[in-house]
Amino acid sequence: MQTSTRIIHEGEDRERYYGAVNPPVVNASLFTFPTMQAFLDRHTPASDRYTYTRDGNPTIRVLEDKIARLEQADGCIATASGMGAITAAIMTVLNAGDHALVVDSCYGPTRRFMDTLMARWGVSTTYYPPDADDLSPWLRLNTRLVYMESPGSHSFHLQDLAALATQARAQGAITIADNSWATPLYQQPHRLGVDIVVHSGTKYIAGHSDLVLGLITAGERLLSRIRPVAITLGATLGPNEAYLALRGLRTLPVRLAQHQANALRVAQWLEQHPKVRRVLYPGLPSFPRYELGRRQMSGYSSLFSIELLPPLTPKQRHRFVDSLRLFSIGVSWGGYESLIIPLLAQDDQTAALHRRLGLNDDCYRLSIGLEDPDDLIADLEQALGAYQPRPI
Ligand SMILES: *Cc1c(COP(=O)(O)O)cnc(C)c1O
Repeated sequence: MQTSTRIIHEGEDRERYYGAVNPPVVNASLFTFPTMQAFLDRHTPASDRYTYTRDGNPTIRVLEDKIARLEQADGCIATASGMGAITAAIMTVLNAGDHALVVDSCYGPTRRFMDTLMARWGVSTTYYPPDADDLSPWLRLNTRLVYMESPGSHSFHLQDLAALATQARAQGAITIADNSWATPLYQQPHRLGVDIVVHSGTKYIAGHSDLVLGLITAGERLLSRIRPVAITLGATLGPNEAYLALRGLRTLPVRLAQHQANALRVAQWLEQHPKVRRVLYPGLPSFPRYELGRRQMSGYSSLFSIELLPPLTPKQRHRFVDSLRLFSIGVSWGGYESLIIPLLAQDDQTAALHRRLGLNDDCYRLSIGLEDPDDLIADLEQALGAYQPRPI
C-alpha cells in the first residue's frame, strides 16, 4: 500500500473507541485499575493497561504507532518537543568519557546541548564537515555516536546517510539522524542503516504551527533503552498535542506535495533573479550533490535559504525583509504560512560557522507555505525591487 493510504488506515483500532472515526483525546494524567491483581500485573506484556500519562497514553500511542510504521521502525516515542527527542536519544547512547561526532550543519540547539550539558558531563564532541563521506579523520576509539542531519540546517548540505552509517557501525558507534526536513514521507533513514531517527514534529508533521512535538524511532533494543530516559527526563507529550499531531499527519501527503511544488516554483524563480546570488534548495539541480539527494530522498520539502547580491547594507536588508507582505518574520517552519528569517551572524562563533558552511552575510531562510506560488513570487519581486543595489 502507498504511504498516503497507510497514514489514514494504519495504527488505529476504532473498535476500541466505539467505532469513533477519530481516536478520543484521553485527557487523564492517571489510569485506575479494577483490582489489585490488575495493578500488580500492569507491566506484564499481556497487560494492555496504561498507568500514568508520562509513561504512556492511548491517544499518544496511536500517533506513535503511525510514525513507527512510516519510518519502518519497531516503535516510536513521542516527546514534548524535537529537542526532547534529540536530548533523550543522545543521553541514552553516551556516557562520560565518550566521544561524539556531530555534523557541523546540525540544528543550533543540538550543538548547544553538546557544548554545554554533554561537555559538563564528560562527553567530548567533534563537529565534522557536512560534505565528508569518509569519517576516518575524526573517528576515535571512544567514538560512540555519529550524529547526522540531512539536509542540514541553514545550508541544507546533503549527507550520504548510508555511507556514514556503515562507517559508524564498523566503529561500534550508534547513529542518530534528524529527519525533520524530509519527514518520514520523503526519507527513511532506518532503511539506509541509521539506528535512531529523531524529528521535530512541530514542523511539517503538525503542519499548522499550533503545537510543539518530538518523535524518536528505533529498533526495539535501542527503544527499550531510550524510553526510560525520555520518561525520566519528563520530556513526554500530552494527549491534546498527540491529537493535533494526528490531525496534521492525516493531510501530510497532500500538504507536502503542495509545499514541494510551491517551493520548486519559488526557488526556480529566485534562481534567475539578478539580485539573487544563490538559492540553497536541495530540490534544484544546481544544488551541490543533487544526485545524492535524488538517490536518498523521494521528495523535497519547502525550507531553503537564499543569498542576495550584491552585499547589502543593514538598511537594505531591513528594507527587503520589511517590504514582504505575505512572508511573516518568524522562526520555525513547516506550517501552512510562509516565513522568512535573516541568517545574520551576530557573534564570532556563528560568523565562523557560516564561513565553514559557505554562507554569506546576506543570507535569508524561507519557509514556503501553502499560499498560491504566484502570489509569493509577486511578493518577493516587489520586496527585491524595494531597495536599490549599492553602487559598485
Ligand atoms: C526545530 C528543529 C528541531 C527542534 O524541534 P522543536 O520541536 O522546536 O524542539 C530539531 N531539528 C531541526 C532540524 C529543527 O528545525
